[in-house]
Amino acid sequence: MAEKKCSGINRQGASEYETVKIAKTDNVCPMCEDYAKKQASKPIAVICCEGACLRGEVARQAANLICNWLAPEKTVRICLGGAFTKDTGQRSLVKNAGKVIAIEGCFIQCASRMMKGVVDNLNPEIIIADRLYDFDTNLFGVDEMSEDQIKIHAKEAARKIGEKLYE
Ligand code: SF4
Repeated sequence: MAEKKCSGINRQGASEYETVKIAKTDNVCPMCEDYAKKQASKPIAVICCEGACLRGEVARQAANLICNWLAPEKTVRICLGGAFTKDTGQRSLVKNAGKVIAIEGCFIQCASRMMKGVVDNLNPEIIIADRLYDFDTNLFGVDEMSEDQIKIHAKEAARKIGEKLYE
């Protein structure tokens, strides 16, 4: 069987856009808004694609490790859905951060493309997480790799990203 490789033309600079209609909501989560206020002084906002495949899962776990354990004093973990779909505290954290890091599960780069659509002139540092650990690139789903192995890859990705934060 031919090896399946994730690759593609990089169209991040393309002039084509998809226009989306996001339903506005009056719902506000007070706990989330409190979190945003408390975290506002952190210099680095970390967005992550949160994808459901194993690449997204590794990225998600790596982002959690960085923001909660490896560099909690420097980084704030962003709730991507909240920041993308409404202009409240989470989006403010992204807008106002000194630096934004986008941990992407793969080359599709969903997190940074989403947030660039709602935050003008956003220029995040993009990290493609699946280039930071060795694995069988034919694998796709979270059910195709053990939970322990996913955690090992997430730790490796987090360690490498964390090292860059302290360079
Ligand atoms: S960047 Fe890749 S892994 Fe993450 S949500 Fe997009 S397609 Fe899925």
